[in-house]
Amino acid sequence: MAEPLLSVRNLHKHYPIKKNLFQRPDILKANNDVSFDVFEGEILSIVGESGCGKSTIAKMILKIEEQTGGIINYKGKDIATLSRKALREYRKDIQIIFQDPYSSLNPRWKVGSIIGEPLLLNTDLSRKQIEKKVRDLMDKVGLLPEFYERYPHQFSGGQRQRIGVARALALQPKLIVCDEPVSALDVSIQSQVLNLLIDLQSEFNFTYIFISHDIGVVEHISDRVLVMYLGRAVETASVEQLMDDTYHPYTRALLAAVPEIDPERKKERILLQGELPSAVKPPSGCLFRTRCLYAKEECKGVSMEMKPVNGNQKHLCACPFAAEFK
Ligand code: ADP
Ligand code: MG
Repeated sequence: MAEPLLSVRNLHKHYPIKKNLFQRPDILKANNDVSFDVFEGEILSIVGESGCGKSTIAKMILKIEEQTGGIINYKGKDIATLSRKALREYRKDIQIIFQDPYSSLNPRWKVGSIIGEPLLLNTDLSRKQIEKKVRDLMDKVGLLPEFYERYPHQFSGGQRQRIGVARALALQPKLIVCDEPVSALDVSIQSQVLNLLIDLQSEFNFTYIFISHDIGVVEHISDRVLVMYLGRAVETASVEQLMDDTYHPYTRALLAAVPEIDPERKKERILLQGELPSAVKPPSGCLFRTRCLYAKEECKGVSMEMKPVNGNQKHLCACPFAAEFK
């Protein structure tokens, strides 16, 4: 099998949370022993409810934050130990598209400058060459050239996200991390932006990590999916495998919540019960057991290690009992 483009192993991010000056801080495990691979040209989706640690993974991949433990390898090299030059290359190769296109675009800058900034900072291109490139990029993402002189507030949400996409494309990255790129958009606009991202992928062979709290958004576009719960991975598989042979009760609950348009397709009726537990005082054993329909006494002692399902190394699940109640 090909080497992964990005390989994440046993990633941990722990935030100390201090209630007051004198107490020992509680530890919030935003990521707890997360491992996954991303292969060139694929779309890996990371899904799970808000607060399960998706953006924290993105921040560590982008080196916005440093992990508490674990390794992120890019093209086989640990990104924590890259030379200054290699790090510059890495920062060009990895780009991010954020959820809220408005707060991630400088409101005082014209669109041309916003999209062109990465080129200005990272290349030796002249102003003229940058302008030409920016206009090409605008064309690629479906923005009219006359928008060049406009400000972000003069755009709709979907158009602003197109600006964010153009900016992310400017340095011809290899891997684009899309952190809830359509969650802030109207449903009618969501599919336009998703389609744009897919079209760009087939044109430039990008690799995507696509983060979403809504498995319904990603099931049609992903190659593989990683499901997370309270900072831990609970199931990962190819999207087909995950849909046809869903194992983890949490994944099943997430899928059951997706509205089904096709009346022929029968659906399990599993509703997610109860509230998400506190990330600071998580349950012992399986983190999901307090909301799991099938929870039993033994669940208090499980380790949540991701193990192959039916010997399939590409389908991993953290619930040791999932096969019993399928
Ligand atoms: P998601 O993107 O899945 O909604 P996040 O990765 O943003 O989740 O957050 C995961 C957990 O880490 C949440 O409980 C969040 O409150 C916590 N968290 C994120 N950033 C910080 C921080 N800088 N300090 C303390 N806790 C944080
Ligand atoms: Mg997030």
